[in-house]
Amino acid sequence: MERKRAVEFLDRLIKQSRVDAILITDLANVWYLSGFRGSEGAILFSKKGRWFFSDFRYRDQAEEEVSGFKVKIFKNKFKEIQRLLHRLGVRNLGFEASGLSCQLFRAFKKEMKGIRLKVLKKSLAEIRARKDPDEIRWISNAAKLAEKGLSTALKSFRAGITELDFAAELEYQIRKAGSGWMPFETIVASGPRGAFPHAKATGKKIKKGELVVIDFGAAFNGYGADLTVTVAAGDPGRKARELYQIVSTAQKQAIAGLEPGKLCRDIDRLARGYIRRRGYGRYFGHGLGHGLGLAVHEEPAINSKSETVLEPGMVFTIEPGIYLPGQFGVRIEDDLVLNNEKKPLLFSRSNQPLRVLE
Ligand code: ZN
Ligand code: ZN
Repeated sequence: MERKRAVEFLDRLIKQSRVDAILITDLANVWYLSGFRGSEGAILFSKKGRWFFSDFRYRDQAEEEVSGFKVKIFKNKFKEIQRLLHRLGVRNLGFEASGLSCQLFRAFKKEMKGIRLKVLKKSLAEIRARKDPDEIRWISNAAKLAEKGLSTALKSFRAGITELDFAAELEYQIRKAGSGWMPFETIVASGPRGAFPHAKATGKKIKKGELVVIDFGAAFNGYGADLTVTVAAGDPGRKARELYQIVSTAQKQAIAGLEPGKLCRDIDRLARGYIRRRGYGRYFGHGLGHGLGLAVHEEPAINSKSETVLEPGMVFTIEPGIYLPGQFGVRIEDDLVLNNEKKPLLFSRSNQPLRVLE
């Protein structure tokens, strides 16, 4: 697997940034470029060649997973990278701002005598925002696994079970459906707890008539899906139904407005404007969506400030919500890819008429 756009981007970045080589330490970027999935890895991308570094624990895994790079297993990371840099005559080395803690940067600085370190202004994040066809397929598969798990788990959803019990059942069914792992902690937030957008599942029992926000994911080949449904444990009443309808319409309007060339903030405004006109603007406090891929949150950010231009190949979530403190919350989240067609391709169907489960 070679990510051609990424390789071209890094070649250009070396020229533009006037460096001799780039050191990539952000693990998601390492994975993206090389296929390596371990927890210790770095890539040196230079005019004279490309190397992948890891430690002895990953010797076999690296041989198996890494392609397109010479694999080097190190005993002392800094020393060996430095030795290679000297051998290659590297004087200026570019770094990714996202891949290094302050502490690691200091350590590098100390070890890399005679080499000027330069923090790069651009990042692979902008390349990763647009997906290749295989990545789109994997995210779509992840969404299918998540939905398969949900539909099985919902059979045991009813008033009286705890949030944690349902979260456990849901995760179990998603794993059984074939998800490699859970890309993030499942949220099951019932009744007033649904008004916290990031509530975790607790031992609270789901009561009759409560709305329950369920935010869950799945992974396929390392690529994640991120979905949210809101369901009711019995008739939730008129107001809850009305708010559900508002969120549902807001999401549809945002999706209908998607088109390459538009700004992310304009899409955010479509959903936010509708919710505001219906009188609930101040109860929708987060961005409308986010990019999705190897990381659960990546470029593009779909929020009221984002000036990112939408491009074909971008995969992201659209997830408006309304959160009434002390009462309940509603959020509906679907994943989609923007393509060259008039309409984006939806990977999921979270936005359905309110499901009332007795
Ligand atoms: Zn989510
Ligand atoms: Zn999300």
